[in-house]
Parts: sequence; structure tokens; C-alpha cells
Amino acid sequence: MAVAALSSAHLTDGFGRRIEYLRISVTDRCDLRCRYCMAERMTFLPRDEILTLDEIAIIADRFIARGVRKIRLTGGEPLVRRDIGDLVRRIGRHLRSGALDELTLTTNGTRLAEQAETLFDAGVRRINVSLDTLDPALFAHITRGGDIAKTLAGIAAAQGAGLRMKINMVALRGLNEDMVLPMLRWCDAQGHDLTLIETMPLGDTGEDRTDHYLPMHEAIAPVRQSHAITPLPHRTGGPARYFAVDGMNAKLGMITPMTQNFCADCNRMRLTCEGRIFMCLGHEDHVDLKTAFRQGGVDALDALIDRALAIKPLAHDFAIGPDHRKPATTRHMSVTGG
Ligand code: SAM
Ligand code: SF4
Repeated sequence: MAVAALSSAHLTDGFGRRIEYLRISVTDRCDLRCRYCMAERMTFLPRDEILTLDEIAIIADRFIARGVRKIRLTGGEPLVRRDIGDLVRRIGRHLRSGALDELTLTTNGTRLAEQAETLFDAGVRRINVSLDTLDPALFAHITRGGDIAKTLAGIAAAQGAGLRMKINMVALRGLNEDMVLPMLRWCDAQGHDLTLIETMPLGDTGEDRTDHYLPMHEAIAPVRQSHAITPLPHRTGGPARYFAVDGMNAKLGMITPMTQNFCADCNRMRLTCEGRIFMCLGHEDHVDLKTAFRQGGVDALDALIDRALAIKPLAHDFAIGPDHRKPATTRHMSVTGG
């Protein structure tokens, strides 16, 4: 391939931030309908608008050639994509060559039992699994019909295959706010870390986010009552800040897009399943790599990647509240990739 002849300049944005982390949304489809993420009835993209496995792999190659060291596959639900095993294997070969430090993914876990071995064999060692509660009825309510047994079986299978896990929990007022401490205890007993996430106003979900928005300081108040928590220097190249919890091995992560802006050291780019590069979850600015690639091949990618770097904004500007009932973007998290 002509990759070696192309620019190998590293990816640095207009604010001097070096981009080493690429998140790829491999599909906008999902087998769940979490209330904070999707509307009950969703119209998904037609298949010919979605990047093929080959296109994703070639674009990933190009980013790796330009200095990306970590790739996360996400969605929608990445494991509902039929060729996901092949994609993971193709990107995974860069782990063996040393060109990539980490390949990981974020999943709802429902299909993890079938895929855990494939992921491990391809070189994946850590994954994030989303689980907002341990209560089956509440899980079914939040996901609009999901079966918690599948996600729990997936988590067990992933552990059996040797994958380390971080559990992602979106903190939701009136839904799971009482469960933060029980979830943390469960994670600690199972050997997982727990990351709490504030709801972000992305895409229309058919529900008012103001009702369930829970600021982080309120979400962690029950933990603080019984455990001292201490900030850790540990970062994973993402927006989470980590804390040690007195008496536990589990680390507590917090993602606070609403109460504490995490953009200053943002080192990531996002490739959507329809081949767009969005520089920020909270902005509409993007470049269209799919069209460029389908018209001009791999040679057309570099110029657009450079343009994307030039438009990466300094920060998002999310707000939720009585004066901000509309989403910050019309794009759902499942399209841009969570
Ligand atoms: N389907 C996979 C899953 O649920 O893990 C991957 C995609 S999902 C969009 C990635 C993460 O984004 C999940 O942890 C989910 O809880 C989170 N998420 C989705 N919508 C969100 C929102 N509006 N605000 C905050 N987090 C959100
Ligand atoms: Fe699907 Fe993940 Fe969105 Fe839930 S958060 S609807 S599992 S994409």
C-alpha cells in the first residue's frame, strides 16, 4: 500500500494537543435503547452509508501511521456488528508489531459471552462494560427491555477469558442514585473498577434529561459518607479522573462533562460509523473521510485529517437545566461513539 509514501507527520491540533487516541464507532445500531442515549424508536443509517470493515481498517492504519497509539471501538453496540471479530483481528496485528499500544472497546456486554475469547486472542486486554444497576427490573427499565442476565454472563465470560474490566455507570437521579455504593462494592468484590458518568445532552431521546441529570458531587455523596476517596495521578488518556477508595482495591473513575470540563488535555479524535471525523462530542464541526476515501483513495485521507486537526475546538459547551432542555447536538452518542 502507498501508506509509507504519505505524510507521517504526527497529529497535533491548533492548541498544541498531541492526538494519540482514536475512537471508532463501528455501528450506530444497538440491541438496547438506554433512556439517556437513544429514543425508543430509532431510525438507523442505511448500510451503504456505514464504513465497510476494509474502510475502517485502512483508515485505522492511516491514523496509526500518523502516531495514534490507542484505539477504542465503540458504537452503538460494537458487538452487534457481524464482522467485528475480523476487524478486531485486523487492527490487533498492530499490537503485535508495536505500532499500537492498546486496542480496547466499550460494550453493553450482551454479546460478550460469544466474543470474549476472540477479543483476547486479537490482543485486547481491557474493556469497558456499561452497567447502570444490578437490579434486573431497573436494568430493564433503563435499557427499555434489556435482560441483565446477558450482560452479567458477558462480564463473567470476559473475566474467564482474561480481560480486565471497567464498569461504566451513568448516574441518574431517581433511577440508580442509591446504587452507586452497592455497585462500587460489587465491582470491588469482582475485581473491576467503576467509572461514574454524568449524563450529556446528546441527541433527542424522547425524554427530558433535566429529570434524571445527577451532578457528580451528589452521585458520590453516599460513597464519601463511608469511605475516604483520594485523587490518583493515574490517567488512561480519556476524560476520567480516578480516585482511590479507602478499604477497596477498585478504583473509582469520574467523567464530569457537565460539572468539570475535561477538554484541556483532550487527546482524542472520533471516527463515526458513517466515516466522519468529529473533533469533539459537543460540536457539529466535522470532515467527511468516507467520501474523500471513496473518491480519492488512501491518498485523500491525510489532507482531511489535517483539516480536522485545524478545526478541533478548545472545549465543548454542554449545559442541562430549565433553560437548556434541548440537546447540545442532534447527534446521538451512539452515532459519534461513546
Ligand atoms: N453500546 C456500548 C455501551 O453501552 O457501552 C457502547 C456505546 S455507548 C454510547 C458508550 C458509553 O456512553 C456507555 O457507557 C453509555 O452509558 C454512555 N452514554 C450514552 N449516552 C450517554 C449520554 N447521553 N450521556 C452520558 N453517557 C452516555
Ligand atoms: Fe446502546 Fe450503549 Fe446507547 Fe445503551 S448506551 S442504547 S447500550 S449504544
